[in-house]
Amino acid sequence: MEIVHIALELAPLIKVGGMADVVHGLSAEQARLGHSVKVIVPLYGFLNKKDIDLIDSNEKFVVNEKNSWHNNQVFRKKIDDVEVIFIEMHHSEKYFSQKNIYGYNNDIPRFLYFSRAALEFLLNDKKEIDALHLHDWHVSICPVIVKDILKTHHLRVKKTILTVHNFHYQGKCAPIDLDNIGLNGNYYLKEDLLQDPDKKYTNSLNLLKGGINYSDAVTTVSETYSEELLQNMHTYGLGDTIKQAQSKLIGILNGLDINQWDPSNDSRLSMNFSKDQSISDINKIKTENKDALLNELNIQKNKPLFIFIGRLVKQKGVEILEPAIKYILNKGGVFILCGSAIDSEIQSHFDKLKEKYESSRKAHFHFDYNEALTRKMYGASDFILVPSLFEPCGLVQLIAMRYGTIPIVRKTGGLNDSVNDIKKPGLKNGIVFDKFNEAEFIKAIDRAFDLFQKKEIKDLSKKIMQIDFSWEISAKKYLDLYTKN
Ligand code: ADP
Repeated sequence: MEIVHIALELAPLIKVGGMADVVHGLSAEQARLGHSVKVIVPLYGFLNKKDIDLIDSNEKFVVNEKNSWHNNQVFRKKIDDVEVIFIEMHHSEKYFSQKNIYGYNNDIPRFLYFSRAALEFLLNDKKEIDALHLHDWHVSICPVIVKDILKTHHLRVKKTILTVHNFHYQGKCAPIDLDNIGLNGNYYLKEDLLQDPDKKYTNSLNLLKGGINYSDAVTTVSETYSEELLQNMHTYGLGDTIKQAQSKLIGILNGLDINQWDPSNDSRLSMNFSKDQSISDINKIKTENKDALLNELNIQKNKPLFIFIGRLVKQKGVEILEPAIKYILNKGGVFILCGSAIDSEIQSHFDKLKEKYESSRKAHFHFDYNEALTRKMYGASDFILVPSLFEPCGLVQLIAMRYGTIPIVRKTGGLNDSVNDIKKPGLKNGIVFDKFNEAEFIKAIDRAFDLFQKKEIKDLSKKIMQIDFSWEISAKKYLDLYTKN
């Protein structure tokens, strides 16, 4: 099959969150299964062409935006048998030259421009595409362009698939934004097309809605999340749109790239360990890793180590995380956090915790992106906290388990599909709490403190390392979807 993914992130080079891991892990598995797979991403200014050995393929093409033509250049690189297409956009407004991927005033025009450029590349490439797989709102305009413009220009696409990694982010824009890339924006101001469902913004368009309405199939990243969406939970106004798309909606749990996340060869760990070692060896090595990290961060030893890795946003449960950290530290545990907030009020709460607890050598707070640190944390900890308000899939709990760290999760979305409470029938691979409130979360933490005293924790640590969360099963589900009529 000829498969093409278009996305803004691709691990490990271009990563903010889980979507990067998914695009990389899924495409690599599809290539491993023998398919011809391309991933198209922007060539961001923060990527150094020399460092990543990019080859200029001498392919150039132009894209029209706001009635001007802009040059684009194609760089190719094979990564894990996937043909990665980096598009360098020589746009007069220096789109994609910034330090970060998201968070700029011109996000909408930048992402619309990239979507159009990616499709123009495919048009020039002249290959028939079996599955054009789009990721999130940033490239949700692609199925609209394919159906309403490029089909007549002979872009041959058998099926378009949109994966929504998070309904919270939707891309609201004005009709003129679509005019700028060659569509007639006003035409799409209709309830069954792209009109924003919020009655206050009837003159606005919603890119994610467009992607859902125009794609042949829509997927979310776990079954429970898709069920929650159909019950109009966490839909952020797109409840009716998703209900109408029910017949083409499917939830497929993300896999984990087990080569990228492998404690037996992770160079960031003080000592490597593998699921095939004995329970006592695994625990001995994990304790060495724990001591090394605690020494490095100047934290007290011989106490249960809890960690949190992720964006400090409401979705991740920051409201109940803050009191839980205080509870853990007062009860005699230690804690490490790696993640940052966009919201200054949320950040100030965590700044205060840092100030209060770091000097007493009980905790460490790192407010930045730092993959080396997170890898050490996964390989050294006893428990990872994932108290999300909602969670489309969640990768941190999957990575943690692969590194023998026990997840404490709230029963929602992909957390519900990957972690089953040790006291309930089933997989028994973590501690799960149901209601989103501080008391329930603290009860779950109390259970973790109890477990830490028991021999059982050592068996559990090895057991969770052995669970197969690889892409194999999920990648096959996507392939079935690509070929299903
Ligand atoms: P998200 O909603 O952000 O996509 P996921 O749990 O699906 O959350 O994926 C988060 C991914 O990003 C994981 O690979 C995790 O290790 C990584 N990550 C999150 N925060 C940080 C950080 N501050 N530094 C390094 N990696 C991080």
